[in-house]
Amino acid sequence: MQLIEGLQTDLHIGGSRRPASSGERFDVMNPVDETVLASVASGTPEDAIAAVAAAHEVLGAWGRRSPRARADVLRRAFELLDTRKHAFARLVTLENGKAGGDALAEINYSAEFFRWYSEEACRNLGTVSQAPASGARILVQHRPAGVGVLVTPWNYPAAMGARKIAPALAAGCSVVVKPASETPLTMLALASLLEEAGVPPGVVNVIPSRSSGAVVGAMLHDPRVRVVSFTGSTEVGRELLKTAADCVVNPAMELGGNAPLIVCADADIDQAVEGAMQAKMRNLGEACTAANRFYVHASVKEAFVEKFVTAMGALKMGNGLDAGIDVGPLVNAQTRDKVEALVRDAANKGARVLLGGTRPGGPGFFYPPTVVVDVPDNADLLREEIFGPVAAIQTFEDEDDVIAKANATEYGLVAYVFTRDMARGLRMCEQLEFGMVGLNRGLVSDPAAPFGGVKQSGIGREGATEGMREFLETQYVSVVW
Ligand code: NAD
Repeated sequence: MQLIEGLQTDLHIGGSRRPASSGERFDVMNPVDETVLASVASGTPEDAIAAVAAAHEVLGAWGRRSPRARADVLRRAFELLDTRKHAFARLVTLENGKAGGDALAEINYSAEFFRWYSEEACRNLGTVSQAPASGARILVQHRPAGVGVLVTPWNYPAAMGARKIAPALAAGCSVVVKPASETPLTMLALASLLEEAGVPPGVVNVIPSRSSGAVVGAMLHDPRVRVVSFTGSTEVGRELLKTAADCVVNPAMELGGNAPLIVCADADIDQAVEGAMQAKMRNLGEACTAANRFYVHASVKEAFVEKFVTAMGALKMGNGLDAGIDVGPLVNAQTRDKVEALVRDAANKGARVLLGGTRPGGPGFFYPPTVVVDVPDNADLLREEIFGPVAAIQTFEDEDDVIAKANATEYGLVAYVFTRDMARGLRMCEQLEFGMVGLNRGLVSDPAAPFGGVKQSGIGREGATEGMREFLETQYVSVVW
């Protein structure tokens, strides 16, 4: 526990740190060696309601601040996070395991949300129009929705929170964050940084807890809560949607994915390999946007697979804090075991493992970069979110067939297409039932772009102008003058 100086491990409510009312705590593990990093307060439903009360108390004052004043605070948050990015990246690696490069990229991405929404805070535009029949004016403005409950996953301990907090604050809302219990330390540190940047006490509260269901459920039943913004699995998202329906709370849901990556016959193979490496290996494959199913045109399979296996094989696995490491451990034993089982299932059904596929001995939740080809349609690898460094490759001959296969999933977050023919590429984009498409790119995330999925991958968008809308309610005034 001496590893991290000034570490916050208590609940963060109304600007002060306090232990859980029950006195309970839980351990946060370092996935690289399975040691305990810290013991963190485990919030109770009563603590969560206290956090909602703290958020509600300051809601009006924060929302009434001028947009420029809120923007200035967000801008300072960007600058502070940028200055301290290496310390934050280290903390992310410690609790999540990801390699230093991935952790730094995450902090840069997080900081950019504060910068982007410092700009958006001043652009909350409404409209004025004339009612066609009566001639009255229709005056439309967007106002802060109220207290937001933000529930985040472990795969991006900083970014999934920043992507919600920044637009919420820009909109004039106050929030309670419930970070994942695997990785609460980064969010607790971020809450302190935000107050240093000028966020008033109570505007951002953080409640880590081992009892996620009870804590989040209690908050959603509190009438002061008006928005629930969740990032995590579709399974938990469905449960939260039911609770949100009971209480008629606005839901914003960023859920699971099962991204197809299509390499057409006319693709630039080097570009496709580079994009595939990003889409597969960014964050070690522990990303909702990770390419899960690779569909490579039969005519370029050999060329693509050869270069892709070489690139995957060149990655160095080890402690993410060490220089030169590309691949850290997965977050926990459960995630590692699931990845291992998926590869075993595919191999048992006839797939060939060209690279990796065997987990190393010793401590830590490591699983190596793995490439599996000739994956049969009935393999679980193609149906489930892998959430690990495994690429499952199939070939295709016909464009319509590959589109049908790509769409044959309940998920609809992101797809990737590689082709030199832009007309073909855009035609395919229109046929793909996904909220986002990377066309000749393996990376779609951008604070200025509306991130989100269709079908069972979610409801709503994060980033861009759309991201702030999730935290605004529309009010219309009918007026004559
Ligand atoms: P998870 O659904 O298990 O947990 C997410 C959060 O919900 C955590 O904070 C957890 O403590 C909390 N939670 C768990 N059960 C709950 C309950 N019953 N009520 C309220 N809260 C509860 O997801 P995870 O394992 O942390 O993250 C991985 C999942 O997140 C993957 O499915 C991934 O695709 C998804 N994800 C989606 C996006 C996106 O933007 N679409 C981004 C990152 C991750």
